[in-house]
Amino acid sequence: MIAKDKVVSMHYRLTNNDGEVLDSSEGRDPLNYLHGHGNIVPGLEKEMEGKAVGDEFDVVVPPAEGYGEHQEEAVAVVPREQINLPDIKEGMKLQAQSPQGPIPLKVVKVTDEEVTVDSNHELAGVTLNFHIEVVEIRDAEQVELDHGHAH
Ligand code: ZN
Repeated sequence: MIAKDKVVSMHYRLTNNDGEVLDSSEGRDPLNYLHGHGNIVPGLEKEMEGKAVGDEFDVVVPPAEGYGEHQEEAVAVVPREQINLPDIKEGMKLQAQSPQGPIPLKVVKVTDEEVTVDSNHELAGVTLNFHIEVVEIRDAEQVELDHGHAH
């Protein structure tokens, strides 16, 4: 059974509320993660608890237990001349340097004067619909526990 410090292998399919597939392990190796260490979104980790190999189920995770709500404060309008990129376009991904390290940004709007960037997680504000199949459960190695993730 899935419990803290187990390494879980699972196949997953993630869709939004429109049924669009956002991510999937189909055609790939199953995803391995160390349970109980916050390596997957909290709403999913909670539902994984106690499941067994072969279990197949659906989990609906609201934004608050997924990648968070979309924060308006994370959207910024920057004067065009401050961004040294002549070919900046909507949809581009950038990194801003901050004292805490690089912050990924998405360009959401470009005008002659201004550029609007959004540092929310791409899946912020999105309800996550997971379909999960538990493939394998094993005890974590000591080194995995030391690192806090599966190897
Ligand atoms: Zn490691």
